[in-house]
Amino acid sequence: MAAEPILSNNQNFFSRLRRNPLPHCANSGCAGRRHAWRNLWQRHGGVYLYTSWYCSPQCLEQALQEKFAARNHAALPVAPTCHRIPLGLMLLSRGQLDNRQLRAALEAQRAHGGRLGGWLEKLGYATEQQVTAALGMQWACPVLPILSAAQLPYARMAPSHLLRHFRMWPVRFVEQTRMLYIAFSDKVDYCALQAVGHILDCGTDPCLTPPGAMRTALERLEREKFTNEFLFVAENGPAEMAHIASGYILKLGARSVRMVFCGEYVWLRLQAERGHTDLLFHIPLATATSLPHLGADATQWAVRTLA
Ligand SMILES: [Zn+2]
Repeated sequence: MAAEPILSNNQNFFSRLRRNPLPHCANSGCAGRRHAWRNLWQRHGGVYLYTSWYCSPQCLEQALQEKFAARNHAALPVAPTCHRIPLGLMLLSRGQLDNRQLRAALEAQRAHGGRLGGWLEKLGYATEQQVTAALGMQWACPVLPILSAAQLPYARMAPSHLLRHFRMWPVRFVEQTRMLYIAFSDKVDYCALQAVGHILDCGTDPCLTPPGAMRTALERLEREKFTNEFLFVAENGPAEMAHIASGYILKLGARSVRMVFCGEYVWLRLQAERGHTDLLFHIPLATATSLPHLGADATQWAVRTLA
């Protein structure tokens, strides 16, 4: 099965955890034995946030809050890269488009928005395959013409919400090289690509697929149940995010946590012995710029479960 390489790594992690004595708490202000939870939690092994170990939910919550606050600026969307050959010029140079057609498509894009490739298709100047092939050259990526239902186990390696948001679809995981291949349509989102690699602790490599193939693949997700991912709209700051995250860590008995900032999202993967759970905090753009100034006692949360 596709997810096994990731799971086997976690199994190794838990067997190491059982063999080794407990390390020192990474929270410099750790209250030690005064924590009511400390002894209970220590018996279960505490929690690792990357390589730092925390003895109690309070210590972990404090560390999470600091990380959320310190990296808050990274919640802003990544600026698009502009150094690639424009799609229109690419099709023009391949003789698949003439100047009049390109001007008409650019005017439609200026007037109504959207992507140039979409307008070229709508106006009948280029096929979806031609646009995707040109995008493949533009992004220097291989093109995968179709996506298969057999890839669903790979898709399940990442939260369905992020797959839909970034329009991406993991297509293959190679265990020997620990490399996950991820298809995108329209454009490669390197922020999302790196985030998946970071959370799964593996390499990632992009490819492109036509928007129609991506649409069909993502529609498959609608028929699937995802009981291990939760989405929160984060409007009130790092303290509340950390409080919610540590609550889930405690409730699920998670032993290790990884987190990454990805566009307007913060993605946490909580790893427990029986499997993983993903927490996603969506930080609206207007909120992201003001988060550090919000108080720790903010309580207004819009919580939505994806399950
Ligand atoms: Zn501690």
